[in-house]
Amino acid sequence: MPDVRAAPDFRTAIVTGSTSGIGLAVARSLAEAGHAVMMNGFGDAGQIEADRSAIEAETGSPVAYHGADMSDPAQIADLVAATTARFGQIDIVVNNAGIQTVALIEEFPVDRYNLIMAINMSAAWHLCRATFGGMKARGWGRVINVASAHGLVASPYKSAYVMAKHAVVGLTKTLALEGAEHGVTANAICPGYVLTPLVQAQIPETAKARGITEDAVIRDVLLAAQPTKSFVQPGQIGALAAFLCTPAASQITGTALPVDGGWTAH
Ligand code: NAD
Repeated sequence: MPDVRAAPDFRTAIVTGSTSGIGLAVARSLAEAGHAVMMNGFGDAGQIEADRSAIEAETGSPVAYHGADMSDPAQIADLVAATTARFGQIDIVVNNAGIQTVALIEEFPVDRYNLIMAINMSAAWHLCRATFGGMKARGWGRVINVASAHGLVASPYKSAYVMAKHAVVGLTKTLALEGAEHGVTANAICPGYVLTPLVQAQIPETAKARGITEDAVIRDVLLAAQPTKSFVQPGQIGALAAFLCTPAASQITGTALPVDGGWTAH
């Protein structure tokens, strides 16, 4: 196995919510690029270990896992401590963990609002607060926030999610300014619809909210917004995240990059 620590571009990354969907693809892409990765997220312990060990074996990069609940600042602090203990430092932070609820605002459950804001928005702030100073001090860092097309435009019935994702784009801009003279970039990736468990779960909810069939949700709601009429692939988000960690991307900062099949061109 090659000594990845000897590679000139070897960095260490935390990818939140990387036990599924986009985050899992980002973890894989960063490991393929030679970076050490701390995975995070919920799920079946056996499946998580199978994914972790497969990525590690296939890429030769060290891959670890920490099950912090990103809605809890104390557990975020533990994630940072554990990653620092395992890899020595944290160079790349990918804030990706996220949940969704689709409901009319007047019927929106308050506990779901609070959870969406905690996981999709506040967790990014807490994790950056704990890691940004180290990146600045070492003169190199990457913050990659997996926001959404809903960080740029809105859809009905997603008040909390759209609010949280717009806030994450705002955080991205602020961190870009704070990191600009220290070799630290911050960017948001704004995917359109990616067929992951998060999207699959909202199909029945959207069907109920709109009073239409699930097939109609896919055709007339999800892909109606996306001019390419096809879902974004998780690996396409992973590839962009890996690119943002290369020297070629060092002047890309403060952006919200759509990967949305033309959705936000409307
Ligand atoms: P997913 O449901 O497949 O994955 C979500 C991940 O977050 C999982 O690993 C899950 O375990 C983790 N997670 C959830 N709650 C957590 C918590 N409290 N603490 C730690 N981890 C937690 O969803 P996905 O579609 O891959 O979404 C990933 C990100 O991409 C989210 O931020 C989502 O808003 C964003 N996004 C998704 C789409 C899409 O179409 N799928 C589009 C735009 C943006």
